[in-house]
Amino acid sequence: MSEPSRTLFSEALIWAGLQNLVGEGTFVGDVLVEGDRIAAIARAPARLPRDGAAVVECSGAALIPGLVDGHAHLSFVPLANFADIGDIPPEEHAYLTMHSARTVLAAGFTSCLSAGAAKPRLDIALRNEIDAGRILGPRMLAASPELTTTGGLGDERRMHLYRESVAMIVDGVDEVRRAVRTLCREGVDTIKLNVSGNHTLSAGKAHLTLMSEPELAAAVEAAHSFDKRVAAHCRSAASVKLALRHGIEIIYHCDFADDETIDLLEAAKDDVFLAPALGMMHDTIHRSEAFGVGYDRAKARGLLEEFASVCSVFTELRKRGLRVLVGGDYGFPWSPHGANARDLEHFVRFLGYRPEEALHAATRVGAEAMLLGERLGFVREGFLADLLLVRGRPFEDVAVLQHPENILAVMKDGRFHKLPPSPNAARWPLAA
Ligand SMILES: [Zn+2]
Repeated sequence: MSEPSRTLFSEALIWAGLQNLVGEGTFVGDVLVEGDRIAAIARAPARLPRDGAAVVECSGAALIPGLVDGHAHLSFVPLANFADIGDIPPEEHAYLTMHSARTVLAAGFTSCLSAGAAKPRLDIALRNEIDAGRILGPRMLAASPELTTTGGLGDERRMHLYRESVAMIVDGVDEVRRAVRTLCREGVDTIKLNVSGNHTLSAGKAHLTLMSEPELAAAVEAAHSFDKRVAAHCRSAASVKLALRHGIEIIYHCDFADDETIDLLEAAKDDVFLAPALGMMHDTIHRSEAFGVGYDRAKARGLLEEFASVCSVFTELRKRGLRVLVGGDYGFPWSPHGANARDLEHFVRFLGYRPEEALHAATRVGAEAMLLGERLGFVREGFLADLLLVRGRPFEDVAVLQHPENILAVMKDGRFHKLPPSPNAARWPLAA
């Protein structure tokens, strides 16, 4: 395929994503993309030469780094409960996951750190197809299914009825070790463990710690022996402490972290990434009425207290400088794939983030969690050309990112996945 290798964004309002440069991080200028990299940036009145480049006249639209979802489940398709997701045959499930990937990318999320696949090889196959350029989707780190113990999150069985869910049920260190080794062999980037309970369970509530320390230790040891990271679902304080004690790199939720646990998290702040995953919880409370859940049921499950608790924990963790990721368990009917940018507004409304800080969480911090901190997350020369052209000023009002019509263009690796309206559009490098 012959296509121009140079794209010039002309007269964009560039939010470079630079740290600690409030007011200086935003400027009007040109950005030249060559191949998959940002080759040059010029601050107005300086201009970059247009020779041989496909020119995008930005007319002051904002140019920002591509967003990173740090807690994605692209194979969680919009069904109200986990057991129904388990009913989907693998073949259909692969296609549905592919559609989720395209939707999330079009919403401006050019990278996803998966927090669990609904079947063992769904993330792996999706990541490989995206990397090969055969289907559209964000760059991905593929997760294992959620490894859970009997009675834990993802175990939908009944005594009289065997049901598959999104999880792999493992009990005892031998089963845990075998499962982790098998999944590493198959090609996951991350092993996901469900350590605490969840508000959706009748017995294993969120404040409980269901995976034993020997099981967790065996999982971490086996994953690390393959040089893979571990991510953990930890709502209870004790589960967060277990995760920290055994060197788990990515800790999700931390809803009921107490003062001691918050101190321990602070002591490990250079070693862990966290994500509160507010989206699904918020939307279960406020947007699920039409889908048969609703405010009253969410309240009865204790979600209101849990949401208040996670917000106060992360308000404190923000002050202590923890690395916190945007990403909110999207993939439920009331919080569908593509709505991922709602999480940035949650950071501002509920955790005390300034809009630019929330944008940093979704770009720079996300890039670090993707293990691409030296190449992604900034509009900077030499960095990967993951860029969004946005109508509005997302660094002042992150809510503009929630509206598809404001996402004018999405570029990943120097190729457009969503094109701005232009008579020149046919000349621009378009991904598969
Ligand atoms: Zn999750």
